[in-house]
Amino acid sequence: VTLIRLNILAGGLMLVLALTSTCPSWAKSPSWAYAVRVGPAARVLDVEARFSPDCPREISVSTGAEPYVENVRLATPKGWVALPTRRGSWFLPRLRSAAHVRYRFRLMEAAGHAQGAERHGEVVDAVPGVYLLHSLRQRSGSAYVLRVRAAPGVAFVSGLHPRSDGGFESDVSDVGMGAHTAFGPLRETSVECGDARLVVAFANGLPLARTPLRSWIAAKARAVARFYGRFPVRRVLILLTPDKIRGIHGRADGGGGASISLVVGPGVDSSTLKSDWTITHEMVHLAFPGVRAAHHWIEEGLATYVEPILRARSGDLPVSRVWRDMARDLPQGQPGPGDRGLDRTHTWARTYWGGALFCFVADMRIRAATEGRRSLRDALRGIQRAGGDITRMWPLEKTLRVGDRATGTRVLESMYATWKDTPVRVDLAAWWHKLGVARDGETVVLNDRAPLAATRQAVTEDLQAVGP
Ligand SMILES: [Zn+2]
Repeated sequence: VTLIRLNILAGGLMLVLALTSTCPSWAKSPSWAYAVRVGPAARVLDVEARFSPDCPREISVSTGAEPYVENVRLATPKGWVALPTRRGSWFLPRLRSAAHVRYRFRLMEAAGHAQGAERHGEVVDAVPGVYLLHSLRQRSGSAYVLRVRAAPGVAFVSGLHPRSDGGFESDVSDVGMGAHTAFGPLRETSVECGDARLVVAFANGLPLARTPLRSWIAAKARAVARFYGRFPVRRVLILLTPDKIRGIHGRADGGGGASISLVVGPGVDSSTLKSDWTITHEMVHLAFPGVRAAHHWIEEGLATYVEPILRARSGDLPVSRVWRDMARDLPQGQPGPGDRGLDRTHTWARTYWGGALFCFVADMRIRAATEGRRSLRDALRGIQRAGGDITRMWPLEKTLRVGDRATGTRVLESMYATWKDTPVRVDLAAWWHKLGVARDGETVVLNDRAPLAATRQAVTEDLQAVGP
């Protein structure tokens, strides 16, 4: 039993970006339906599941969650009978009508052992595939519906698409990955950002009060919306839980809806929030479609390159810091010995900084090709406007083509054609010279008489008038 999942480590920051399926095409009745009753303190879940007759017979849960599934029974005319089980899977009989299955899942115990489930304080944060028995072979194109009833004092929140009847739904292929759900004593509030709704769920025991945290999220969301023209997704769950860590750890997930999980350490105070980059990084992830694992560098590279620029544009980061950090950190993205190109070299440095190097060069080339009228931001806005957000899975070639169309260039596609399987070295010293970025010990000196000084200034200026 496997769960497709990318675990990304960045400077002690754990980010998981789950892949998503294509757009929902299920208008008819759902293939699988789940009714979940949450027990006191979210210790156990009692699940009633109905599987359509076309469901493949073998069903299971995410890797590591199997030992926490108990008492799986099938409804028959003679009453409830145990479902046959072997090596972490259960087997449905061939039926003409839907199979009605009942079981218990020990959620609290599974957290920390099952892939895709974590416990932070009193809250369990899990992808649905951890606790929902499902087929791993079901093709996308039909829906599953999830309804949850929680015990008093326990809340259920979800990044999945909400239904008008209070349930949630998504494509069957998204069960094992994608948007997160959480159980526990959570307080829910919502932040409106244009036509987008951010569902914010606070756990107990956070080091800051809900009001400043909510204002912080709202301000960051507005900055992201300004950059992209609107907030990248219509709905996102933002889950805040406490844990014994340093700073803030974040991760963004798509697939059936968008979610961001932020784990907040005890030392986080209002000054940490002010200088935090995590939430901006995760929100940038929302604005790009899921791509195959080989292209993970573009997701992290974009978030790494765009995040400081976006914060500088909104006044949260001094412009000199953006260039100082880029001059210091981008060299880490250069290909090392044995490099086989970005699609085939999956080291941390090439994923984050190699991807950022690609984005930096692309931004410069788009600006040069359009005499400063277009930039990487226009490409990203074009992708986002065409529906390429974290809840969709797109081929990278298509994504880059859509981006290029928005700038009227072929920069992204032509760069990708070489960078994907060739170690491309960038003459960064030449770029810093042209842009007027000179390192001076721990800081930088910016030269406004450098040949591309205007380009450098445009990168961090909020040019509202430019671009559609
Ligand atoms: Zn990331």
